[in-house]
Amino acid sequence: MNNKKYIIGIDLGGTNLKLALLSVKYKIITKKILSTKKFKSSRELTHAIVSSVDELIRARRIKKTRIAGLGIGLPGPVDVRTGIVRFLPNIPGWRNIRLGEILTRRLKLPVFIDNDANLFTLAEYRLGAGKGLRNIVGITLGTGVGGGLIIEGRLYRGESFAAGEAGHIPILLLGRPCNCGGRGCLEAYVGNKRILSWAEKVFKKRIDLEELSNLAARGEHKAIRIWQSVGYLIGSALTGVINLLNPDALVIGGGVSNSGRVLFNSIRNFVKENAMVPQARQVVILKSKFKDDAGLIGAAILVRERNRI
Ligand SMILES: [Zn+2]
Repeated sequence: MNNKKYIIGIDLGGTNLKLALLSVKYKIITKKILSTKKFKSSRELTHAIVSSVDELIRARRIKKTRIAGLGIGLPGPVDVRTGIVRFLPNIPGWRNIRLGEILTRRLKLPVFIDNDANLFTLAEYRLGAGKGLRNIVGITLGTGVGGGLIIEGRLYRGESFAAGEAGHIPILLLGRPCNCGGRGCLEAYVGNKRILSWAEKVFKKRIDLEELSNLAARGEHKAIRIWQSVGYLIGSALTGVINLLNPDALVIGGGVSNSGRVLFNSIRNFVKENAMVPQARQVVILKSKFKDDAGLIGAAILVRERNRI
């Protein structure tokens, strides 16, 4: 009899809801991607998660007893202990939702919940770009800007499980209002919607991130200038993080991070020029190894580590 175990990994972002069936060796067997915007409430989204998970399991004709558990990453502060989602700055309708309890009851599986950037960072630390290092900061650039911290080889979650919110480091005194309720946060300037409206203003037409990256790669000055400015803004917030924590590496992922060399170089240059000398010498700035799958792999690692399988 085949007793091989499987894990369900879920990565909920402001743009996409990704679900996958993984082996216990973290190989993605099947993956499903839905648009987060399609769901108007937390109830609809939760329902879609439940039916998609059932579908994933049924399509492979796997018995539920062979699923070791479900791990899910969400874009905001979540209480890891109770499975309560506090709020999601970029997905309306989520406030104090008992997601862990609801999914456990409806799916009859062990469910583990964490912040999506924490899971991204965990995946890169255990198996990806940060493997073998002890102190790393993970940054996800997408609809929002997320962060995760590995300090002395352990994921640091903070007293209320909300540590690592790099996107909500203020970069401007009394600046733009942010979805978190604060003002002048990094995310309010470099979240992907902001970059797109910046590009629309400059080019006088709608333009997507891929086009903007291609233009920069082809040497278009206006596009290069946008990515450079985005890189400097990110670099300035991250310089503060690097000065504070003195990490070995910063691992950057998420949709916006696929934008090419201009963005990466300007982040690197800003940090190297502005961080304090010992920290600047130590830190390397790396691209995510797992790219779009890091959150799913991190969710599976969470299940294995919490379930001790
Ligand atoms: Zn904020």
